[in-house]
Amino acid sequence: MRFQFSQLFVGFLLWSLFFSTSMVYADELNVYSARKEALIKPVLDKFAKQTGIKINLITAKADALLKRIESEGKNTYADVFNTTDAGRLYRAKEAGVLQSFVSKVLNDAIPENLRDPQGYWYGLSVRARTILYVDKYIDKNTLSTYEDLSKPEFKGKICIRSSNNIYNQSLVASMLEANGEAKTQAWANDFVKNLARKPKGGDRDQVKAAAAGQCDIAIVNTYYFGKMLKSKKKKELEAAKTVKVFWPNQNDRGTHVNVSGAAITKYSKNPKQAQQLIEFLSSKESQQWYASVNYEYPARKDVEPSDLLKSWGKFKSDTLNLAKLGENNARAVMIMDKAGWR
Ligand code: FE
Repeated sequence: MRFQFSQLFVGFLLWSLFFSTSMVYADELNVYSARKEALIKPVLDKFAKQTGIKINLITAKADALLKRIESEGKNTYADVFNTTDAGRLYRAKEAGVLQSFVSKVLNDAIPENLRDPQGYWYGLSVRARTILYVDKYIDKNTLSTYEDLSKPEFKGKICIRSSNNIYNQSLVASMLEANGEAKTQAWANDFVKNLARKPKGGDRDQVKAAAAGQCDIAIVNTYYFGKMLKSKKKKELEAAKTVKVFWPNQNDRGTHVNVSGAAITKYSKNPKQAQQLIEFLSSKESQQWYASVNYEYPARKDVEPSDLLKSWGKFKSDTLNLAKLGENNARAVMIMDKAGWR
C-alpha cells in the first residue's frame, strides 16, 4: 500500500514537472521574420487564436536575422525563420541553423520545386523576376528570353539593379543551370554592355528610370510592380503605368521565379508547434491572404492569384528546384563580377 502510494506520488511529481515545463515552452513560438510585420502578423494572430499558441514576432532584415540566429547558437529564441529568396534560405541551411522535417501537409500543398529536397525550408509565396517594357518604345514582338537581352539591339536600353542583390544572383544562377558556365559568362559580358546606366537603386527605381526615359526595359520582381500600381505616391503610380509585363522564356524553361519561405531553426525548443505554424501558412485560406497582401502568387496551385496579378496574364514558370539557386550562387556571383556587373 505504502509502495503504491509512493509510486503514485513520484508519478504525480514527474507529471507535474513535465506539465509545467511544457506550459513554459509549448504554448509560445518565436518567429524571426524578414517579412514586414503588416505582411505576416494578421495571419499569425489567426493561428494564435485558433491554437492558443502565443506568437512573438521579431522582424528585421534577412541577413541580420540570419546572423542573429547564428550567433545565438544553441540558445536561440527563434523557432521559425521566415525570409525571401531561396538563395537566402539555402544560405541558412548551409550555415547549419535549420532542421529538416517531413510534412505530408506541406508536401501536398507546396509544389516540389518550391521546397528544399531535404525538407529544410518550404516556399510559401512566389514572385517572378520578369521584364517590364515601355510599350511606347519597345515592340513586344522583339522580346523573347533573358538570354536575348544580351543582343546588340538592346544596347543602352536596359535598367537593372546591382549584382550584389540576391534577386539578380538567383536569376543568373537559374541561367547557369539552364545554359552552363561558358554560355552564361558570355551572356553576362554582353548583357552588361546593354545597360543604360550604372546599376543603382532597388527594383522600383528601375521602373522609375524607364518612365523617365533613361531606359526602355526594366528587370523587376512582380510584387514591386504590383505595389507601384497600387501606390498612393503619384510618381510611383505614374511610372508603373508607362510599362507593361512581358513573360520571358515562354517557349523554353519558363520565366524565372523565386519564393519567400519558412524554416524551423535547428535549436528550436518547439519544433512541433513550429511545423504546425508553417503548415497553417500553407493552407488554402492562409495562402490567399499571404500571397495577395504582398502582390505575390500563392505557392499552392489550387489557390488563385489576386485580380491584379491575373490581369498580367498566365505564364509558364521555370520549374527548376529553387535549391539550385543557392547551390549555384557563388558561381553566379563570380560570373557577374567577371562581366563587370556592378
Ligand atoms: Fe524584395
